[in-house]
Amino acid sequence: MHELGVVFHVVDEVKQLAQQNEVKHINSVTLQIGTVTGIIPDYLTECWNWAVSKQELMLDCKLKIEKIEAITHCDGCGRDYNTIVYGKKCPYCQSEDTYLLQGNEFMIKEMEVI
Ligand SMILES: [Zn+2]
Repeated sequence: MHELGVVFHVVDEVKQLAQQNEVKHINSVTLQIGTVTGIIPDYLTECWNWAVSKQELMLDCKLKIEKIEAITHCDGCGRDYNTIVYGKKCPYCQSEDTYLLQGNEFMIKEMEVI
């Protein structure tokens, strides 16, 4: 399961940060996730709740998710459009000379600690 791997990765990273900063407990973690990463927020939250129950440092730590909309830029006509709706082909000029501007992000934005 893709989401579980993602959760382990985030938990590891958060724990490392906590140790470096001598944090006693982590209350919440905010992630920014692009809509074309293929990550399903509901699954992610499920995996998260299970994973943090095994971590003393992160017991009851909440997961907050901020979605980043996927936007593609067209080199053909210079416009931007919604990637989820139109995919690789520009809806304005039908060009496929396009690239993803945003929406593939996966970042730890912030964590709330004691
Ligand atoms: Zn175009």
